[in-house]
Amino acid sequence: MTQRRPLIAGNWKMNCLRADGLALASGLAAKASEKGTLGCDILVCPPATLLSDVVGVTKDSAVGVGGQDCHAAVSGAHTGDIAAPMLADIGAGYVLVGHSERRADHGESSTDIRRKAIAAHDADLIAVVCVGETEQERDLGATLSVVNGQVAVSVPDGATAKNTVIAYEPVWAIGTGRTASVAEVAEVHTAIRAELVKRFADGNEFRILYGGSVKPSNAAELLALEDVDGALVGGASLKLEDFWKIIETCA
Ligand code: PEP
Repeated sequence: MTQRRPLIAGNWKMNCLRADGLALASGLAAKASEKGTLGCDILVCPPATLLSDVVGVTKDSAVGVGGQDCHAAVSGAHTGDIAAPMLADIGAGYVLVGHSERRADHGESSTDIRRKAIAAHDADLIAVVCVGETEQERDLGATLSVVNGQVAVSVPDGATAKNTVIAYEPVWAIGTGRTASVAEVAEVHTAIRAELVKRFADGNEFRILYGGSVKPSNAAELLALEDVDGALVGGASLKLEDFWKIIETCA
C-alpha cells in the first residue's frame, strides 16, 4: 500500500486582520516546533494581505504557506489579481485553485482552473485543485460524474503527485456545519483515486484531501479512510486549538 503523508491545510478565506492572523500563524508555528516530529504536513492559506508576513513568522517552522488563488498569466493587466510567480517570490509554496467559492463568485470554469494549475506548476508551486458537487447535483445522483469531470478538466496533464494535491469539497458541506458521511466521502475519494490512477503513472501517490466542515470531532473518522490523505479546513482553521487538534489526529 502506498504511504502518503497527510496534509492538513487551513483556508482562512477573507478573514483575519494583521494582528489576529499573525497571532494565529505564529501560534501554530510554535506548536509545530514544540511538537517536533509531526504526522502530517501543515499548510495555511491566509488572505493575500497577510501572505508575506505569515511567511515571515512561519519560516523556521514546519508550517507551509499558500495563496488562495492565482491568475493564469505570469503578469499583465489584471487588476486585483495575483500571479503565481508573485506567490513564489514571497515564499509561498502552495496555491489553492478552483475553490468552490471562486467557481461560484467569480464564474471560474474547470478550464480556467487547469490554466491556473499550470501557472502554479510553472512557478514551482504545489497546486491544490479543489473539486466538489453542489447539493442539487448530489440530489440528482450526479456526484461522481460532476467530480470526475472536474478532475478530468481541472487537473493538467503535467500534474504529478509532487506538484498537485486534490481537495474534494462537497459545496453543500462548506461552511454549513454539514459534513459528508464517511460512506459518501469514501465513495468519492475512491472514484477520484481511480481516475488519477488511470491517467497518471503516479496516480496512487497523489494526496486527496477532504474539505467541508471538518472539525476536531469528525476529523479522526474522516482521516482514517483509505483514500483521505488530509483535510482542507475553513472555519476550524481560524481557531488555533481546533486546527491543532485536527493536526494531532494525524500524529
Ligand atoms: C473550505 O473553505 O475549503 C472549507 C472546507 O470550509 P469549512 O471547513 O468552513 O467548511
